[in-house]
Amino acid sequence: MMLGFLLARAGVAVVILEKHPDFLRDFRGDTVHPSTLEVMYELDLLDELLALPHRKIDKLSAQIGGEQLPMADLSHLPAQCKFIAMMPQWDFLNFLAAHGRRYKTFDLRMRADVTDLIEEGGRIVGLRAKTPDGDLIIHADLVIGADGRHSITRSKAGLVSENFGAPMDVLWFRVTRRDSDPSDAFGHVEAGKMLVMLDRGAYWQCAYVIPKGGIEPVKARGLDAFRGAIVDMSPFLADRIGELKSWDDVKLLSVSVDRLKKWWRPGFLCIGDAAHAMSPIGGVGINLAVQDAVAAANQLAEPLRSGTVSDGDLRAIERRRTFPVRFTQRLQLTIQNQLISRVLTSQQRPKPPLLFRLTGRFAILRRVPARLLGMGVRPEHVRTPDIAAAA
Ligand SMILES: Cc1cc2nc3c(=O)[nH]c(=O)nc-3n(C[C@H](O)[C@H](O)[C@H](O)COP(=O)(O)OP(=O)(O)OC[C@H]3O[C@@H](n4cnc5c(N)ncnc54)[C@H](O)[C@@H]3O)c2cc1C
Repeated sequence: MMLGFLLARAGVAVVILEKHPDFLRDFRGDTVHPSTLEVMYELDLLDELLALPHRKIDKLSAQIGGEQLPMADLSHLPAQCKFIAMMPQWDFLNFLAAHGRRYKTFDLRMRADVTDLIEEGGRIVGLRAKTPDGDLIIHADLVIGADGRHSITRSKAGLVSENFGAPMDVLWFRVTRRDSDPSDAFGHVEAGKMLVMLDRGAYWQCAYVIPKGGIEPVKARGLDAFRGAIVDMSPFLADRIGELKSWDDVKLLSVSVDRLKKWWRPGFLCIGDAAHAMSPIGGVGINLAVQDAVAAANQLAEPLRSGTVSDGDLRAIERRRTFPVRFTQRLQLTIQNQLISRVLTSQQRPKPPLLFRLTGRFAILRRVPARLLGMGVRPEHVRTPDIAAAA
């Protein structure tokens, strides 16, 4: 959506296909980080975006075993917004779509399920999709695969990914939030279990972390035991955990971390999770996808407008984005392997690793994770024009 918006804004005719009728999926995270807010500022859309309901988080803490530790302090970031805006992803996407529609070059089609790519002489020249009105064929100078972790386009293009594994899956559910509840989004780590709670105003979006493939043992212990495990971690939920009435209220989200060995083929480029599925650790996936979009638009707007897009352009985007993605995934894998897999297999109450103790103790150190989380590595800046403003 972000790339479609940026290209349409720069005068490139774009068709965006979304297989669902709306963006109301609740499992893609809510965190709009300072790097993304900076992009919105550069687009002159920040104030309007922040007029939408959201919560600001400028400090992150975690409870590891018996210790509550401050982890990151974003209030010193060199950015317009020194906070994470907790905003459901569907609000963010609808916002971008509404602004995209200001440009006649922006064509968003919902319920258009991409099923195949069209190839001619080794080059991708278009795609096929199913829509309620029948089959759709689109020919294009360039097809972008931005269809997420289970990307059909990347598999149809025959691109090969490296899978880095993940020791965990996530059980995703909601519980009513009350104004008297603790206010910060927070993580709680105990022997064999982890709980992260995202404040969505009227309710808590909860992520309960289990060992990879471990849903059946959790179910076998029963819903009461599951509710009890949640209340052990967050006792203030005791009076409403009964809202989980059956396993239908609990969704299993499978976590994966992978990266394409090559992100493109002539006529085709993957970005976002389609190029590199991100772990939920740090809540950075949306923001990296947005950064990919900005980098891709910067490189592609001009050649797409003049019909001269080349393999060199696609290669340049992969080169530019590989380092930030690889660096971030490496950090996520370190946390997965050093902390999460140990916690999930341990019977003993966890103790914070040394690094976490140090950030807990020295305020200045909390600026480092804040910078990595908030701004990421090598933040991108909008360099594409606004044809409406230029007209
Ligand atoms: C449990 C969990 C929690 C997470 N929490 C966070 C978080 O808090 N913050 C954060 O930043 N990141 C989080 N992430 C990561 C984040 O969800 C992704 O990194 C991010 O959504 C990637 O964006 P994307 O646009 O590349 O892909 P997606 O958000 O997956 O979007 C892909 C889009 O393509 C559409 N699509 C798919 N197939 C087709 C098709 N065949 N035809 C047409 N359309 C299609 C989909 O419907 C979807 O709208 C989390 C991930 C997991 C697994």
